[in-house]
Amino acid sequence: MQRNVQKFGFSDKRGRTRTTPDPYLAEAALKEPAVCQTCQAIYRQKRWQLDPMLAARLTHDPAAHWVTCPACQKAAGHYPEGILTLRGSYLWNHEEEIRRILTNTADRIGLRNPLERVIRIDRREESLVIETTDNKLAEQLGRTLQKAHSGELQIDWQGSPVVCRVQWERWH
Ligand SMILES: [Zn+2]
Repeated sequence: MQRNVQKFGFSDKRGRTRTTPDPYLAEAALKEPAVCQTCQAIYRQKRWQLDPMLAARLTHDPAAHWVTCPACQKAAGHYPEGILTLRGSYLWNHEEEIRRILTNTADRIGLRNPLERVIRIDRREESLVIETTDNKLAEQLGRTLQKAHSGELQIDWQGSPVVCRVQWERWH
């Protein structure tokens, strides 16, 4: 795992500063404007942003550079930097509500930074596991959930680049 996640060697939480060679995407060398061919996020003025109108225009612009953004690379290569694991009978009694809170929160954050997103939400035996491209996003989802539904929250940052593991549980 360590070897693989190193591919994304970003040092800051928003993935803007590279610390190790990245075979997929040298952000410093990214030519602007660049468009992600998977999610249509745009790289412009040194940051990733969502602008569907501009993306549509760039589709016909020979000056646009087609790339795969770091979030889509992490999703495709399955390298989450945030893992939120939910447990407890309360979860299954309020599953729909809880999923909605997580999705709404992720959508809101994603508008600000399109590189922060949920890769997938999976039920694994008695847990619901949410994987995110961004470590900070996993923490924010956990905190938002706890604010709305109480429960026990545990947050653990480890590794390089840092992976954030968040555990939440509530039994009644
Ligand atoms: Zn993308």
